[in-house]
Amino acid sequence: MHAPYLINFGSHTEATAEKSVDSLRHSLRRGREIGALGVVVHTGSATGGRDRGVALKQVRELVLPLLDELTHDDDPFLLLESTAGQGASLCSRTWDFGPYFEALDAHPKLGICLDTCHIFAAGHDLTGPSGMKQTLDLLLDTVGEGRLKLVHANDSKDIAGAHKDRHENIGTGHIGEEPFRELMLHPATEGVPLVIETPGGKDGHAADVARLKGLRSV
Ligand SMILES: [Zn+2]
Repeated sequence: MHAPYLINFGSHTEATAEKSVDSLRHSLRRGREIGALGVVVHTGSATGGRDRGVALKQVRELVLPLLDELTHDDDPFLLLESTAGQGASLCSRTWDFGPYFEALDAHPKLGICLDTCHIFAAGHDLTGPSGMKQTLDLLLDTVGEGRLKLVHANDSKDIAGAHKDRHENIGTGHIGEEPFRELMLHPATEGVPLVIETPGGKDGHAADVARLKGLRSV
């Protein structure tokens, strides 16, 4: 499941911060009711020119109680999705998950949704020899094994480091096909579900799924 995009736990606007809590609590409750594996939420940004440390402290104050409400074994995980690194984003590179996890005491219900377009746009060049493998290794070094719970598999309309969140069909953007093969060969993605958020509607999605399945089987 995906929580609403307007959520920002780093916001300097009190009303936004408060509504973010209500909104995420609602999503987590719905997630529990339908038996969802996880609820994806964006990592947000430090708005209003505020210090990142201050924003992360607020993330801790607002999100840790929500995580503590996930008391059943089969409750959904809260899956953090990093951004393309626009503005004062709190988490865009792999190592940014470090302070974010620390702020949330590496809660056992905390996981990661890796969006390949976002991480590429944030500056991790997934192309070239082992680009994807190195990025996944960096992620594991930062948060440890077993935290990657979901992949948003998207190619990118823009180059690495462009900080633009514009998805493209698999293999036809600047990431290209090979990194997606590496993605599926990496032990960190074994058994991890994969969702595509690419253009082209049903037909585009069907073609992307077929392409990914083809890469997986080699
Ligand atoms: Zn995504």
